[in-house]
Amino acid sequence: MSVNRSNYEKIIGELTPSKTTLVAVSKIKPLSDIQTLYELGQKDFGENYVQELIEKAEALPTDIRWHFIGHLQSNKVKYIAPFVHLIQGVDSEKLLAEINKQGKKNNRIINCLLQVHIAQEETKFGFDADEVSALVNKITSGGSVFDNVNICGLMGMASFSDDMQKVKSEFETLSELYKTLQSSIPSFNTLSMGMSGDYELAVECGSNMVRIGSLLFGARL
Ligand SMILES: *Cc1c(COP(=O)(O)O)cnc(C)c1O
Repeated sequence: MSVNRSNYEKIIGELTPSKTTLVAVSKIKPLSDIQTLYELGQKDFGENYVQELIEKAEALPTDIRWHFIGHLQSNKVKYIAPFVHLIQGVDSEKLLAEINKQGKKNNRIINCLLQVHIAQEETKFGFDADEVSALVNKITSGGSVFDNVNICGLMGMASFSDDMQKVKSEFETLSELYKTLQSSIPSFNTLSMGMSGDYELAVECGSNMVRIGSLLFGARL
């Protein structure tokens, strides 16, 4: 029993007025923790690893909305395509094309967020702002057609830093980009940014979806 119920209630209370969606990040955490939070009313859960997601989805209630938030390899899309609710880390056109192909095979339209690289760190996956704008232009002008993909918005991760001014400016940059692109893609309705350490700031900067793990489930050791 490592679910922090009082943190959960506090976070839900903070997010409800702005209708911000909470994705509970349950990677590495046991089924029983997910079940506990589910019974408190939580329906959106995020996972980073394909195999782990498949096993959990098979074992847990079917009305859970599973978000894939990790780095997704093209050759693994087929395993999650039948049921995934939102793929948050789309970081290449090649991956988008594969998601589209698997969406068609499964006769469904798969929701995706384009991941934008906003932090300074080298290791983070994602498009930079120019690349994501170019891709959106290509799609809206009919240069690439993805009928089985619904691009709902953007996802980003700020620097892991105590410098909240820096984190804030990264969130603001992503939020501006989101608003700009929203004017050309009307299906844009989701800006996913904010984690345990910075979600309040992210919401202030315009986020409407936060991905929170350790505050809910404890630290991942
Ligand atoms: C692990 C993870 C989170 C949750 O991180 P916490 O700091 O535990 O809240 C959020 N987003 C992504 C992409 C992650 O990989």
